[in-house]
Amino acid sequence: MVSEADCLFCGIVAGRIPAEIVHETERTLAFRDVNPQAPTHVLVIPKDHHPTAAALAAADHGLADEVLRAAHAVAEQEGVADSGYRLVFNTGPGAGQTVFHVHGHVLGGRDLTWPPG
Ligand code: 5GP
Ligand code: ZN
Repeated sequence: MVSEADCLFCGIVAGRIPAEIVHETERTLAFRDVNPQAPTHVLVIPKDHHPTAAALAAADHGLADEVLRAAHAVAEQEGVADSGYRLVFNTGPGAGQTVFHVHGHVLGGRDLTWPPG
């Protein structure tokens, strides 16, 4: 498993790696995805390191709730809450998770088809 010292998103939390931060609470951070897949594509993370959504929910359900609330706050701030947005937690390599610090993708601003690829 990637240690916190080597974790890309822990690096963003620590300010070692630059990111365009759009929302922050005491325990969560949201920043624009470097490779956006929609006009709005923001990643919402807990500042504490948990590798996956499943691990976060098991370890700290209060923090999991804060991440969900932060995601909706981002959608409202980005102006996509009313038109609709997608909140995605890729969980595990088979689902396409590449960064093992849990993050919710907030996607919006275009028509989103279902099911995703
Ligand atoms: P995953 O595939 O793990 O669900 O999503 C990881 C996301 O992190 C991808 O959408 C990817 O574009 C984004 N990403 C990877 N490296 C960086 C980075 O250094 N900065 C930012 N802002 N996003 C990143
Ligand atoms: Zn981390």
